[in-house]
Amino acid sequence: MLLTITTTHRPASDLGFLLHKNPGRVHDMPLAFGRAVLFYPEVSETSATFVLALDVDPVALVRGKGQGKSSGGLLDQYVNDRPYAASSFLSVAIAKTLRNALGGSSKERPDLAMLAIPLEARILPLPVRGSEGLVEKLFKPLGYDITIEPIPLDDKWPEWGPSPYVAMTLRATCRLRDLLAHLYVLIPVLDKQKHYFVERSELEKLLDKGEGWLAQHPSKELIANRYLRFKKSWTKEVLERLGEDGPVVTEDDVVEVAAPAEAAGDEPIVEMKKDAAEEALEKPIRLHELRLDTVAAVLKDKGARRVVDLGCGSGKLLKRLLSEKQFTEVLGVDVSSISLEMAERRLKFDRMSERQLKRIRIVQGALTYRDRRIEGYDGAALVEVIEHLEPDRLAALERVLFEAAKPGVVVITTPNSEYNAKFEGMKPGQMRHADHRFEWTRAEFEAWAKPVAERCGYTVAFSGIGEEDAALGAPSQMAVFEKTA
Ligand code: SAH
Repeated sequence: MLLTITTTHRPASDLGFLLHKNPGRVHDMPLAFGRAVLFYPEVSETSATFVLALDVDPVALVRGKGQGKSSGGLLDQYVNDRPYAASSFLSVAIAKTLRNALGGSSKERPDLAMLAIPLEARILPLPVRGSEGLVEKLFKPLGYDITIEPIPLDDKWPEWGPSPYVAMTLRATCRLRDLLAHLYVLIPVLDKQKHYFVERSELEKLLDKGEGWLAQHPSKELIANRYLRFKKSWTKEVLERLGEDGPVVTEDDVVEVAAPAEAAGDEPIVEMKKDAAEEALEKPIRLHELRLDTVAAVLKDKGARRVVDLGCGSGKLLKRLLSEKQFTEVLGVDVSSISLEMAERRLKFDRMSERQLKRIRIVQGALTYRDRRIEGYDGAALVEVIEHLEPDRLAALERVLFEAAKPGVVVITTPNSEYNAKFEGMKPGQMRHADHRFEWTRAEFEAWAKPVAERCGYTVAFSGIGEEDAALGAPSQMAVFEKTA
């Protein structure tokens, strides 16, 4: 997908200073979900054109994910319009690659950055999902001249229905920063489809990028509603805050900190919560409940106050942690947006008091990429998570968790494969869940955990969860790591 920006403001080559990108070069910038190539097909005294070509890699988005369930099945993860349609990915790419321009700063041409200049932006292909006239409704009030060219899906198959894709050209005399902010907010608004988990910091981003224009926009409710994916209480909050006098409170930090997560997983991947089959196997012994209670008790017992649940799934442990006053701050992290949405529902975010909202946060992220948001916690839990990682990704998890995040206590649980022999109907070598990449014996778990602890400055102790079999051990196993220095 392409975003093209042209100016005829002289000298037009100054566009390079405004965008902080040298017109003499091609800028190839890697993004977690693909790459952006930035270049200038024409630069002269009278006219300059800049192109951001975004190449979304659909395979990277689902890489390493198993055959778990998602609304459309695994195929849907590959066969969709993400690779070529300008969507929320383009907004992320604008924020990442044109950060200074979006913030309105220019080292060499600070005055020009504050100046309204003739600009033309063209986006192609742009998905528009909504009622007739949506583009005009959104961009006209902001002063743009608009040209829309439909892109047919395929004339030969009219039964495919009308195409949601258009090429859109906007023209206005405005500041570059305003043009970029309008695009940043309104591209995902046009495309109603959900591309990643919308966490609360999106609300701050909307207020931040909407500063100076959203409050006056006649369709601000529609914009907030679609941008926040129809979370009513958030839309209400945005409208209230837009209505307040004085400057909108912005939290640039939130945007900053969110970067690794965007990198890590912009895309709902595949849900890998404990599935029905695994629960059915383990149910007679209520193993999962016991496991969660045990982990919460260990964190409490070790005196942790600020805790993070890594691979929190649908939030069962988060719920337990929230019910304990000792835990002053609880963070849930998961790569799957479907799971995070389930967690939001389970915890009833929309009905939570201000005080509770301050204690809990859930964010999308992958545990194999360094993430500043998980650093500095007293305690971390990974309940039935490690066995979902490819064995060759464990080293990345070790670095992220034990070398970068370094919580005081880390509690990890994983199935004890020896015990599988006792589950009725399980064949030898079979695993409890289709997405498990491995299941370890007690000796294997220790052989992994002990060297990690030693290398990273932790002690580690092992125990079983569930009724112990004399020969095979307990159905689940737990390692508790404690930082020594
Ligand atoms: N801890 C939860 C969920 C366990 S299922 C519980 O006990 O109920 C495993 C969870 O790990 C899933 O929600 C899955 O999305 C998540 N997960 C798997 N790989 C991940 C990764 N690389 N980064 C973050 N989360 C991951």
